[in-house]
Amino acid sequence: MLKNLLKLFFPETCCGCNSLLLFNEVLICLKCRHDLPFTYHHEIPHNDTIKKFYGLIPLEFGVSMLYFHHGGIAQELIHNLKYRNQQNIGSLLGELYAKDLQNFEPIRSVTEIIPVPLHPKKLKERGYNQVDSFCESIGNQLQIPVNKNVLLRTQYNKTQTKKNREARQQLTRAIFDVNFTSNDENKHFLLVDDVITTGSTLEICAKALLKIPNAKVSILTIAYTQS
Ligand SMILES: [Zn+2]
Repeated sequence: MLKNLLKLFFPETCCGCNSLLLFNEVLICLKCRHDLPFTYHHEIPHNDTIKKFYGLIPLEFGVSMLYFHHGGIAQELIHNLKYRNQQNIGSLLGELYAKDLQNFEPIRSVTEIIPVPLHPKKLKERGYNQVDSFCESIGNQLQIPVNKNVLLRTQYNKTQTKKNREARQQLTRAIFDVNFTSNDENKHFLLVDDVITTGSTLEICAKALLKIPNAKVSILTIAYTQS
């Protein structure tokens, strides 16, 4: 009742297209929900997400939920999720995607969900990691715990400005590391990020996780963009 009254005086707008939401609509309007550009990667074994890692890292599976187009719904949703503190968008998308993934056999062996960590400085500025709500939502629906401790993003030294290409690459590679005990061995980690473009960040993260004995790694992103 109060919620409806609030809506009357402060109408909410759709996070996908900015049109006014109807009383029965939450976060995104029915049209945007209907138009969500699903990739259906989980139904395609050699999909575009996993293909990015062929020859680079061994993955159990790789999937993305939506296609990311310039000016499209996915871009608008992720922008709101990332910069306007609309973490409930992540929860909603996670809920929707978990329904699709319920019958996706390979996800059943996943033991932990790992959100790609933000740089500590960025986390402090933003106050939250934009993939956390999405991870929690999928984890809740599929009964998989989220682990934010095993993969770390370490501070890098900004004062070293004069670096050749190789040294810079080493610097980038050093950004992620793992902190594990024998309890973390023999696990299947599902690495989650918001958007995949080149896949280089996810590749570095996956390589770090694969340092754990007998680790298996898979990748899941909210959106996929052609690079
Ligand atoms: Zn809309």
